[in-house]
Parts: sequence; C-alpha cells; structure tokens
Amino acid sequence: MADQASNRPKVDPDEILEGIRTWVEIESPSNDAEAVNRMVDKVETDYRAIGAEIDRTPGCDGFGDILTARTPWGGDEPGILVVSHSDTVHPIGMIKDILRWRREGDSVFGPGIYDMKSGAYMAYYAYRHLVRQGKQTPLPITFMFIPEEEVGSPTSHEAIEEAARRNKYVLVTEPAREGGKIVTGRRGSARFQITVNGVPAHSGLRHQDGRSAIREMAKHILYIEGLTDYDRNVTTNVGLISGGTGTNVVPSECVIEVDMRLPDMEAVEEFVPAVLNIKKIDPDCIVTVKGGLNRPPTKKMTAFRHYTSMPKASPKRSASICRICIPVAAATGISRQHWASPLSTG
Ligand SMILES: [Zn+2]
Repeated sequence: MADQASNRPKVDPDEILEGIRTWVEIESPSNDAEAVNRMVDKVETDYRAIGAEIDRTPGCDGFGDILTARTPWGGDEPGILVVSHSDTVHPIGMIKDILRWRREGDSVFGPGIYDMKSGAYMAYYAYRHLVRQGKQTPLPITFMFIPEEEVGSPTSHEAIEEAARRNKYVLVTEPAREGGKIVTGRRGSARFQITVNGVPAHSGLRHQDGRSAIREMAKHILYIEGLTDYDRNVTTNVGLISGGTGTNVVPSECVIEVDMRLPDMEAVEEFVPAVLNIKKIDPDCIVTVKGGLNRPPTKKMTAFRHYTSMPKASPKRSASICRICIPVAAATGISRQHWASPLSTG
C-alpha cells in the first residue's frame, strides 16, 4: 500500500516548520510581559489540545508567566523535565523588518527561531507525535516554559531548580551550534552593572569644576572589553550604556551593563573579581559595581556518552530528521549533569 494511503502518523518536516512558524510569529521579548504571555497562551492552547495537564504561574517583576504542561500519565513519579523558554531577545517589530519570516534554501529566518522556538516546538511535536500514535512513555514528562531566560531567569530560577530536583532527567531544548554541532558543555556567565558618579558642571562656564562620569566610565569600558581573551574562551561585552543629561553639562552619572562568559571555574575566579574590584581612576568620582556570577560553567558531561553510543540514523533519514534529533540530544546531557543549575543561555 502506498505510504500516503496509510493512517499512521508520520513525522513531517513541513508540518514541523509550519508549527514553528506559528510560534515564531508571536514576538516575545523578555521585558514585554504581555507579549511573552501571548506566546505562553499559544503554547498552553497547543498543549491542552493534546491532553496535557497545565499549570500556569502568574509572572512577577514585569515578566511573563511560567507554564508547565505535564503528560496525563505517570502520576507524581520523578520523570523527564523538558525546559524551554518562551522569550526571545528581539524587540517587537523585527518580524516586519530584518527578521521577517523567510526561507532561503535550507535556512529559515524569524525572531527567536534559532533560540529557541524551534527546539521548544520540536519537543512539543515529539510529544504530539507520541499522542497521535497512542503511545505513552514509561516516565511522565513535564514541559516547562520560562518567560525570561534571556535576561538571566531572575523570576523563574527557583522554580526551575525545584522542578529539576523533582525529576530524574532534564532536557533543555536550546539550539545546536554552528554546523549542527552538539553542545556538551557550556560557558558560565557573569553580569555586572557599573555606575560612575562624577560632578556635574556647566561645560561652557565652569568646565573645570566638573568631573565627567562618562569620561571616567570610558576608561573602565576599555579595560572591561580588554579582558576578552579568545584563546581562553573568555569574552566580555559592554552591552548597554546610559549617562548624561545634556550636551552642555559635564555628566554626573554613567551606567553600563556588562555580560561576561567564562569557560571554567578557574576563569570565574580570575575574571569575575577583575570586574568586581574595579577602582576609580579620578579620585573625585565614585565607582559602584554590582553583580557577579549569574550561571556557573558546566563541564562536559558523562551522560553524553549514552547518546553517542546510540545507533546512527540511516543516511536516508539524516537530511531532515537528524537535524531535529541532534540538538535535543545535546541538551539532554547539559542538564542531566547540572540539574540544579539555572537554565543555560543560548
Ligand atoms: Zn535560549
């Protein structure tokens, strides 16, 4: 009998892509709770439609809701936790601009499609495929969607750790790296907010009385950026800056926000204090540094071996299906090893 005449559900890459599109087209920047909750509504609706048990915790501090969807089977027994995030880094409107939905050969574009709506959707699709086949997993599965991973999970951190402890395995649906490479470890991240307070003055009349917070900060920015060491896989990024009140005023305040990525604890011990201990250069300025390690680095995990010893997919299937399998398998190891860590950044 021809394949298309069969009633058996199939994994259909085009159907997956269409589904991904419905999630990507709901733009959901972390700091826009309403937008993130529109995405959470969609995810909730999709999971409800296939019989999952939903639990939704209202967001706080201006962030969206935390959603969990659990298989109706398996009871309360420790099972598999699949963690995804519903937020993206892109501001509203990108879908109409440079990140409009489009396909160029094997590449498809859209805000957050890579990180991580595709991974999140594929986990959903895998579950739906199971349901369509009338099958159940030996262990219960809990799908967890957090609303603010891209800003460091400030409101969901504890819920993630708690859920991770309750489960036997944790998978994270973050994307694969260039060339489809599997992620087997992850750099830690540190975040800092640095404030310089100087002395304001009219820059035309009393320039000499002023102490420019921006000038002082400029020196610290160059120092912080200079800590980047590609050979050691340490990077720093001054991603946000604000300061000053007018072009004719010597600025009295400047604030920057810094992201730092670190490969191991040795680098953490060396580079985090290098920022925390920044001292003022101009004695009339005040420098305040807040922040520190946000997520510890994860080591290459042993659980990854289970994946590599699995039989390889046939070449015929590898083109479309394996691409989908690999990132999921990669993420398995990460959280299996570091189940108590906050969700890794993509
Ligand atoms: Zn991500």
